[in-house]
Amino acid sequence: MQLHDKLEEKFRLDINQKKALNKLKLFSVSDMLFHFPVRYSDISEVKRIADLTAGDMATVYGKISNLKTKKGFRSKIPMAEGVIEDLSGKIKIIWFNQAYLAKMIHEGESVKLTGKVTQSKNGTYLANPEFEKLPYMPIDSHDTLFSTKNESVSQNKIENDGFSYPIYAETRGITSKWFYHAIEKILREKTLDNISDYIPEYILKKYNLPTLKTALIWIHKPKNSKDAESARKRFAFEEVFCIQLERQHDKFEYRKNKSFQVKTEKKDMEDFLKTFPFKPTNSQTKSIETILNDLAKTFPMSRLLEGDVGSGKTAVAATASYVVVNNRPFDFAQGKLQSFGNLQVAYMAPTEILATQHFESFIKYFAPRRDVGESLPINIGLITGSGCRKFPSKSDPNDWTTISRTQLLKWTANGEIPILIGTHALIQKSVKFKNLALVVIDEQHRFGTAQRRKLVRKDGIAPHLLSMTATPIPRTLALTIYGDLDLSLLDEMPAGRKQIITEIITPNKREQTYEQIKQELKKGRQLYVICPRIFEPDPEKESALNVKSAVEEAKRLKKEIFQEYEIGVLHSKMTKEEKEKVMQEFTDGKIHILCATSVIEVGVNVPNATVIIIEGAERFGLAQLHQLRGRVIRSSDQAYCFIFAEAKSVKTIARLKALKTAKNGFELAELDLTLRGAGELGGTKQWGITDLGMEAIKNIKMVEAARVEATTLITEDPELVKYPLLKQKVHQKVGEFHFE
Ligand code: ADP
Ligand code: MG
Repeated sequence: MQLHDKLEEKFRLDINQKKALNKLKLFSVSDMLFHFPVRYSDISEVKRIADLTAGDMATVYGKISNLKTKKGFRSKIPMAEGVIEDLSGKIKIIWFNQAYLAKMIHEGESVKLTGKVTQSKNGTYLANPEFEKLPYMPIDSHDTLFSTKNESVSQNKIENDGFSYPIYAETRGITSKWFYHAIEKILREKTLDNISDYIPEYILKKYNLPTLKTALIWIHKPKNSKDAESARKRFAFEEVFCIQLERQHDKFEYRKNKSFQVKTEKKDMEDFLKTFPFKPTNSQTKSIETILNDLAKTFPMSRLLEGDVGSGKTAVAATASYVVVNNRPFDFAQGKLQSFGNLQVAYMAPTEILATQHFESFIKYFAPRRDVGESLPINIGLITGSGCRKFPSKSDPNDWTTISRTQLLKWTANGEIPILIGTHALIQKSVKFKNLALVVIDEQHRFGTAQRRKLVRKDGIAPHLLSMTATPIPRTLALTIYGDLDLSLLDEMPAGRKQIITEIITPNKREQTYEQIKQELKKGRQLYVICPRIFEPDPEKESALNVKSAVEEAKRLKKEIFQEYEIGVLHSKMTKEEKEKVMQEFTDGKIHILCATSVIEVGVNVPNATVIIIEGAERFGLAQLHQLRGRVIRSSDQAYCFIFAEAKSVKTIARLKALKTAKNGFELAELDLTLRGAGELGGTKQWGITDLGMEAIKNIKMVEAARVEATTLITEDPELVKYPLLKQKVHQKVGEFHFE
């Protein structure tokens, strides 16, 4: 068999299997080999049925027979029963109240059962066992699972050292067992004999990673857990390494451009900072210095400013913008500084509401400072889907006016508007700048290669990039997905900020909490109620459930709790216009309570909303809860966050309590990663990292190694000329590697 052979040519597939393979995007033999098991069935806890003793929790493997359903003799509760048998003996099984189980398992089927061995006067039975159908049953082929350690099971099977066979993700039409046998066949036919490794040999040696051939065998047919682990480690490393290569290449490419060198008079900048109604925090000052340093270079900056909601990122961006627009453009053709005009800034926000809010705060930040002799305000433009504005208006130097899009674009193109704020409409083709020197990107996760390339002028001049995010993610993840950016952190909150009072509310305190909230509403404050997203594999279903919970809760609150208040609903199934309308009404105070799904996560600013309820909190990661809570940090009034947890588990409550003690969102993100694993970080799909890749994210050493190796390699051989297979792999995995 060859790696590129089509599966349908090598396997006899029925129509359902074909469909299933299509759905999983598995077309070739090679695709199959890279379809890794999601886990390995562990038989180390398995017991022989003959050895079971009453009171044990036990796992047994065997064949099912004598299935039937009946009603309890006296209790009348429906129940299912049957018998499970292995080579050592048999035992009865009873599922109380779960008669339907008898229909899900079939006579003669091989299963794994885990349940409590229970003694009754009629004998011993396994009570309410969990069951799992097995893809492959050693008993099927008459080899014994329970042979003694040194007695090898059979030539073809995994040695029985307590480690077992792989379990693959199933989909309708195809079972894990099918995968097991198909892979078995592929491996048997020596398909891997000529496979070449795309990872450079020196890297494998340095980090003691198995070769591709070995790793593929070990991941599908591990002899022991150590080999399986080692294979997973290699593939996890490989994923992060490929992402890093792509990001480092991206950074390298962007840096090849020239950019406007932005000079700063220190005094000038200090004067500007003095106009703020507050003293910048140490981390703000430090970030500003780093950014100004970057701006003074001849190649473009690519920097990410990470900081919790409320840490003051806008002030940092405003300072950078101020410095930029106070510089004259350099005339690259003439080789000298122009004596007229300004450099320009584009400031991009994820939503219209946010763009509008930034426009308003920039007007304040850039008010003319008469004390230092400034008389004219700087022109600031706003461009969104629903219209354009310009500050100042002709008639009133302290106010803005609406203008036509055409007019705004004209003034942007001829350089009369130094600062343009907007949604992503801002980087569309029709928007032309004269001397764009800085692009600020607020709360948009990644600005890919393609988008960056659009910003580069025909003469090879590229703007400096400043990305900002409040999404708390662990450092390892940031180093990976933002590998193309230099990082600055705002890890300190402005002094004097009132802490949000956070309470974990168990179900018995619900009524009391509503009473407390009513007191706040009476004072004229507003309330957010966040309803959980319910994770379901089917995206259609997921949003359907989503909608229902926010909508239903709004109805319930209106009917039962907050009768005298206006309640609005916000969720992802609404159109953009509907969403903006509701947000506007909430901002204007026409709606007092906003029932929403987690769509409000990103930077909405309604200072009068000082209370937030988060329902079903155990479903959210800590970092996400922290993000949601950040919605009420905007005001100088005391803010409250009530975390409603349904689960009474001590562990859940203990986890949620971290929200009261952690210093910032990053700490919570790290906790999510250690307590619940990478899956809890949310949105892993949006970052384009697989579950396996996420295993690497837990390991700072591995992430750093991948980063160091990728950086070195790209510096030495930016186009990976010496490693064509690797280049191909990166392209296949990440997609964005730009071929010269
Ligand atoms: P974010 O980082 O979430 O974008 P903002 O820049 O919107 O935060 O700032 C939140 C609020 O904090 C704003 O009202 C801003 O004026 C204020 N602020 C920013 N920096 C400071 C500071 N150093 N001291 C006091 N208040 C500050
Ligand atoms: Mg912000």
